[in-house]
Amino acid sequence: MLTENVYINGEWIETGDEIASQNPANTQEVVARVSKGNRGTAKQAIDASVEAQDEWKSLTQPERGSYLRDAAEVVEERFDEIVDLVVRELGKTEGSARGEVQRTVDLLNYYAEVARDKGGIAPPSASQQTLTYTKREPWGTAGVITPWNFPIAIPTWKIAPALVAGNTVVFKPASLTPGTAAALVQAFDKADLPAGVLNFVPGSGSEVGDEIVTSDSVDVVSFTGSSRVGKHVYESAVSDGKRVQTEMGGKNPIIVDETADIEHAVQLTISGAFSGIAGQACTATSRAIVFEEVYDEYLEQLIKSVEDLTVANPTESDPNLGPKVSQSELDSDLEYIAIGENEGATLAVGGDQLTGGEYEDGFFVEPTVFTEVEPDMRIAQEEIFGPVLAVLSVSGFEEAISVANGVDYGLTASLCTNDLSRTQRFTRDIETGVVKVNQTSTGVGMQMPFGGRKQSSSETFKEQGRQALEFFSHEKAVYVTH
Ligand code: NAD
Repeated sequence: MLTENVYINGEWIETGDEIASQNPANTQEVVARVSKGNRGTAKQAIDASVEAQDEWKSLTQPERGSYLRDAAEVVEERFDEIVDLVVRELGKTEGSARGEVQRTVDLLNYYAEVARDKGGIAPPSASQQTLTYTKREPWGTAGVITPWNFPIAIPTWKIAPALVAGNTVVFKPASLTPGTAAALVQAFDKADLPAGVLNFVPGSGSEVGDEIVTSDSVDVVSFTGSSRVGKHVYESAVSDGKRVQTEMGGKNPIIVDETADIEHAVQLTISGAFSGIAGQACTATSRAIVFEEVYDEYLEQLIKSVEDLTVANPTESDPNLGPKVSQSELDSDLEYIAIGENEGATLAVGGDQLTGGEYEDGFFVEPTVFTEVEPDMRIAQEEIFGPVLAVLSVSGFEEAISVANGVDYGLTASLCTNDLSRTQRFTRDIETGVVKVNQTSTGVGMQMPFGGRKQSSSETFKEQGRQALEFFSHEKAVYVTH
């Protein structure tokens, strides 16, 4: 079991209160105990972060980047241990957890590298005597608020560019996965990051999160989580004059047309909707929009493949999917399954909680597929965040795009096709921030900008890639005559 404290000004401090995380596949197992902060602790962390700013921003960008490279080495040294932590704290499969921890290492190295060559540009000067150039400066203190479903990769893709750009950081992790988040902070501590540059305060959203969002000393907020909380965070931070980025939910479609390789389309659907993390990804496939010509063929193969999926405790075997992360997340899935049945969709496979035997102490649900789903049903409109897929039939490409776009979300979308002209129309007309062709809706490159539209993101600023450095800094136009 991992035990850790809050981290303020380079010191690990016990608060006298704690958050204990449990293994969602076996609730008898406590995975981590981490000191819990409150509003006062958050204030101390913000003060430490403000205090550390001048020295941190006076380093060169490559110097700041070198701390990230050292932290990456620490994560690599502890790779298997951190993978095990992710599996136990969240119930992801080992393969999925390995991918996430590798992504963490890659992100740290990527931003360390970007730190070396991402600088200002020099537009031509209008005068021989004047040197003109642009430079970017940090905002100051960055608040980083993250969800539980990628408990180390998401914090890294916010903290790494924030630090490289010269900000100091106050990081509040999700309360279901504080142990994995602590492992990332331990890596920076081991890398001798100067005191106060990164501060870590687990605690409730309404106290620690709210203090970060409303404090006058926090200049920029990067949030990932539900659309409900994200909307509140956005409005509150913007009204305080902060720079803010909110990445939120999704209702991501995979469109399968009559030219597609159906076997491949089924594999992509399974991978995006069920594998590894039981549908608990913002980019998870939750709607399959299938041309009527291939609907029966697709469905027959899909249902057979879903019936073959294995669900188990990922610390004991290597299943296709593990548990839901918590009782309330499980209850929410079961509620949506009941809603789907009441709305008149056909429950084609799954639909039940898994109980008894190996499932007794965990939050397990069967991978579930609804067919004959109508676009306006709630199971086709709302983010379920579980292994529940809605399959809809459409008569052609225009209808497919209209159904795909007919939701409040716009994060990712995927098209399975062998028709290049459709690919081009799809990339033009689909209302999402990430567009995939013959790929799963999940999985994004860290060098690519990431973000969505509508209720999926605040749209203004992207995460990851070099765009993240732009979010965490502001640009100055400089004119020098000597
Ligand atoms: P959540 O919104 O409940 O919590 C996210 C974070 O916000 C947590 O750290 C929480 O403690 C904090 N928080 C809660 N109330 C707050 C408040 N009033 N002020 C400040 N902070 C507060 O989300 P979750 O259940 O942890 O994560 C699941 C959600 O995250 C899903 O909706 C999923 O789609 C979304 N998600 C989005 C992305 C993306 O990049 N678009 C990635 C992963 C997850």
